Amino acid sequence: MRSLPYFCRGKVIHGFGRGSKDLGIPTANFPESVVDSLPADINTGIYYGWARVGNGDIHKMVMSIGWNPYYKNTKKSMETHVIHTFKEDFYGQILSVAMVGYIRPEKGFASLDELISAIRSDIEEAKTKLDLPEHLKLKEDNFFKTSISTTADQIMNGHRL
Ligand code: ADP
Ligand code: MG
Repeated sequence: MRSLPYFCRGKVIHGFGRGSKDLGIPTANFPESVVDSLPADINTGIYYGWARVGNGDIHKMVMSIGWNPYYKNTKKSMETHVIHTFKEDFYGQILSVAMVGYIRPEKGFASLDELISAIRSDIEEAKTKLDLPEHLKLKEDNFFKTSISTTADQIMNGHRL
């Protein structure tokens, strides 16, 4: 995928309440505007990269890009699981992400247990891959150095210039 690494940010919105949090894997959803700006070569599936909530620390993340059932699968969704335990939810805050690499396509799972163990292994793969020097350096990218105003309505997203 030529567009990787891909940098974007947007306000965290409420998802479809599929209870990701109950599985121990909460996923922060991006608004439609961010999803619609994705380059065409970014396929659906599971990605890994870096994430920052507001002006907080930069953490490892895994992201699922999938077809949004709410819109009869005509629109995509982007859901980020930040590999960190937060004290509180962060709905309404600006999430900045660098999508660095691709793990696998979307799959159907026969059971919830299978789904959870697949996500756990995605998380392990993300942790290992992100320790590679070429991925670690993206944490230092200027994209993450910008101070974010949480009230900003105008949010830049897309390719780094
Ligand atoms: P929703 O359907 O609203 O997306 P989830 O059960 O997927 O609900 O929970 C997502 C929310 O949980 C995020 O929007 C965020 O506010 C909060 N959250 C807390 N910890 C994390 C985390 N480590 N990664 C992602 N979201 C988190
Ligand atoms: Mg979610």
